[in-house]
Amino acid sequence: MELPRRILIGYDVITELGSFIKDLGFGHKVLIISGINAKNLTEKIINESLSSYGLSYFWHTIDSATIDCVNQVVDVAKNHQSELLIGLGGGKSIDVAKLSAYYANLAFISVPTSASHDGISSPFASIKGMNKPFSLMAKSPVGVLADIALIANAPRRLLASGCGDLIAKMTAVKDWELARDEKGEYFGNYAASLARLSANLIIEESEKISKGDKDGVRDVVEALISAGVAACIAGSSRPCSGSEHLFSHALDILAPNIGLHGEKCGIGTIIMAKLHNLEWEKIATSLKKVHALTNAFEIGIDPDQIVDAILLAPKIRPERYTILHKLKLDRESAKNLAKSVNII
Ligand SMILES: [Zn+2]
Repeated sequence: MELPRRILIGYDVITELGSFIKDLGFGHKVLIISGINAKNLTEKIINESLSSYGLSYFWHTIDSATIDCVNQVVDVAKNHQSELLIGLGGGKSIDVAKLSAYYANLAFISVPTSASHDGISSPFASIKGMNKPFSLMAKSPVGVLADIALIANAPRRLLASGCGDLIAKMTAVKDWELARDEKGEYFGNYAASLARLSANLIIEESEKISKGDKDGVRDVVEALISAGVAACIAGSSRPCSGSEHLFSHALDILAPNIGLHGEKCGIGTIIMAKLHNLEWEKIATSLKKVHALTNAFEIGIDPDQIVDAILLAPKIRPERYTILHKLKLDRESAKNLAKSVNII
């Protein structure tokens, strides 16, 4: 089990990045991977913080999370004899830093600038251009530094997407239970409880989160980190990712670049909750409250593609048993299902 050794969450903690790195016991050569916007937003503060602790650093900007970017980062890390990678940004920079750190056998620190998904603390990376359309096991961050002031300034849509990725743990854990009961798969009770706790937060605190103020943002950030740690504990993405994630990955293939990961997982959760006999209306209401998108039209996905995605989802990972593998829906029943939960 590989867990983050240090997690720092607070207001304006980005100014403490230098001491955070030093306290973790790392050397002097730091490679910071970020998108251009995150760099522009934080460069001055980070440079000051790292310099004041005698750390030398090099910024490398990326614009996509592809395997080419990962290979480039590995080369840059080698050329600069980097001792530590920092993934600074939303999803892409953290994913690229995580997989690069894994390939280069270096530690990495996650510094999220938005709360849009649980990859900020999980050992899994979602990279384009690999032969698998789902997240790959990479490396757990050795530290996570989450500046709530910075994250609260990110677009509201990203926070809503994070809520979708959190509520997804409800059906993910149900699928994991199903695999335990019907296939004898290993089931980690503690990891499952931790993931479920993160999902419940969205149901219980949707009113507070809907305001988008710092307290609500902090709740979502803590829940996302906690869900990522659940995956670290399980040593698998099982507690965080079930049929609703397979549905989201299917949409990535069928309707590329439309909608955010957490948005697709959110609508996937509503659909799979119905199949699991969970209270899908309650899930949809909570997602609406936090301003998440809850149907195909809002996201801009064709209704037929939703039906296609329900059918394609179990084929993406045949070995990962979920409710979709059990029920083997046909086109007619998939369409009726999506209609019955108001997704199409
Ligand atoms: Zn996810």
